[in-house]
Amino acid sequence: MAWMCSGRTNKELVQRMIDSKLIKSERVAAAMKATDRASYVRYKEDAYVDSPQSIGYAATISAPHMHAHAAENLLPLLFPGAKVLDVGSGSGYTAAIFHRLVSSEGKKGLVVGVEHISELTDWSVENLKRDGLAKAVEDGEIVMFAGDGRKGDPERGPFNAIHVGAASPELPQVLVDQLAKPGRMFIPVGTNEQAIIQVDKDEQGAVTMKELFGVMYVPLTDKTKQWR
Ligand code: SAH
Repeated sequence: MAWMCSGRTNKELVQRMIDSKLIKSERVAAAMKATDRASYVRYKEDAYVDSPQSIGYAATISAPHMHAHAAENLLPLLFPGAKVLDVGSGSGYTAAIFHRLVSSEGKKGLVVGVEHISELTDWSVENLKRDGLAKAVEDGEIVMFAGDGRKGDPERGPFNAIHVGAASPELPQVLVDQLAKPGRMFIPVGTNEQAIIQVDKDEQGAVTMKELFGVMYVPLTDKTKQWR
């Protein structure tokens, strides 16, 4: 799948993901078309290649097809006005896509990105500004902060959608607790073998889990274990 969706432009990259049925909804297609991946990578020549890329500090920006999966999966909870937590927000790319989904139709949503490498947090804010989202950052519709994502953000929560961009050895209960009713989390879980787990919390607060597919993400870990 990885090489199949590569394009020469952002529009072509997204179109290939639509053609291969990875992107099924108009809303996700529009949000991903509006979010130029070139603003969120270190090497512009690889911006529209459908593969993960190094962003430094032992971190990567995930492959676009993984971001498409995540957005499609979380879509029922990414309604206008929704609150989203993006754990391991790295380049800021996923935060931008989520922002374009929840701050829409005249409603203001909230996207909170938490990233433990402060240099990446700063860089992600620059990337968002380069991608035309300076006002959303100024207005507090997108908040990027440096911290341990395993703790979430209890003050700004609960969140309708939680996206975790790094693999957790086990399901973090703290993040399950910060899911709204209803809420959904998309999280890679595991060490050597990892899978995406979809965690749903219903209106009554009942939690159910579903394993989606196998993946390979960088670990959700201690800052000092990742980078010295
Ligand atoms: N969605 C991002 C994913 C980046 S890779 C993107 O596509 O750009 C995963 C990120 O998780 C890395 O930037 C890494 O620094 C971060 N990370 C790992 N463990 C973390 C932790 N405990 N708290 C916060 N961020 C963490």
